[in-house]
Amino acid sequence: MDSPDSSGAQKAFGFAPPSDSAEIGIRAGVTFVGIQAHSVVNKVHGTRLSGFCSVNPYRGCEHACAYCYARYTHEFLDRKPGEEFERRVYVKLNAPEAFARDLRRTRGISQSQILFGSATDPYQPAEARFHLTERMLARLLPMKGLSIGIVTKSPLIERDLDLLRELSRRHDLELLISCAFSEEEVRIQRLLEPRVVSPARRLQTIARFAEAGVRVGLLCAPLIPGINDSQEALRSLCGRAREAGAFDISGQVLFLGRATREPFFQWLQRHRPDLMDGYRRGYAGGLELREDWRHIVEERLLNARMACGLTGLMHRRRDDAPREVTALEELEPPESPPPGNGKSCLP
Ligand code: SF4
Repeated sequence: MDSPDSSGAQKAFGFAPPSDSAEIGIRAGVTFVGIQAHSVVNKVHGTRLSGFCSVNPYRGCEHACAYCYARYTHEFLDRKPGEEFERRVYVKLNAPEAFARDLRRTRGISQSQILFGSATDPYQPAEARFHLTERMLARLLPMKGLSIGIVTKSPLIERDLDLLRELSRRHDLELLISCAFSEEEVRIQRLLEPRVVSPARRLQTIARFAEAGVRVGLLCAPLIPGINDSQEALRSLCGRAREAGAFDISGQVLFLGRATREPFFQWLQRHRPDLMDGYRRGYAGGLELREDWRHIVEERLLNARMACGLTGLMHRRRDDAPREVTALEELEPPESPPPGNGKSCLP
């Protein structure tokens, strides 16, 4: 039985409850569970990240980053935010069709950024099998003038290079390759992000898209105090990202939500027990690092940006003027009814 809280959250995030889901495959210890979603576009307001429409075709993520803030989303499905988040991935099988519907009916979507990957990685390994992100992006080809962002750590995004290049001609598209470790920090990176490619490989992805003329930036997140926030490491990382062709660099200090705190503290206890005390004090007030410490970390990133020639605001849209979007109505209706006998689980 769902708790009242989890049921409300399921509605808000367009989930189907687990009782109406079915296991659709297992690979390398990861179980994929197919679900039907009423919607895949979620307007985000009133949080530390706001003013955009988030799109997430998968719940859970095999990349298994110890610090992942999206772990709480598994609690909405009455699943544990620890290992189950990494080993039981929910696949919104009807995401492309739901996305096309959402594009037509979500008020104000044409003036918001449509952000793929604000919670879980849209190019995580499941995407190689299910192609949901690719099929949703293809739905945007008949249109022009939207603002689209994609955040990923995965080189699988290179599979869609031709599609993304075409979309960048029609829309205000920006790719953000997420990497907060320099190449010298690869040992600790592997411990924190056990199934994510190396920083060097992520910089190659930046280079590939930059060479293809697609706007691509570095998202330096999360900055983890005492682990990857040294001035030297940030200068090295930012310098290499700029050499690779990153148009901008932005970042975010570690955010420790309730569901993330326990797995992260377990990791810390095992690998960096010397930092435990500082973390308890730094995050004693809640989800964010205490303000004065946070400013120190943010200042280091700003210095690193400036050292490689970036000044001004981080991560600003190319064009802040209202955009004219055409052909919204030209999106074709869903090609077929949603899989699962059309059974839909949310009102
Ligand atoms: S890649 Fe992103 S979504 Fe996946 S586990 Fe890591 S932080 Fe979470």
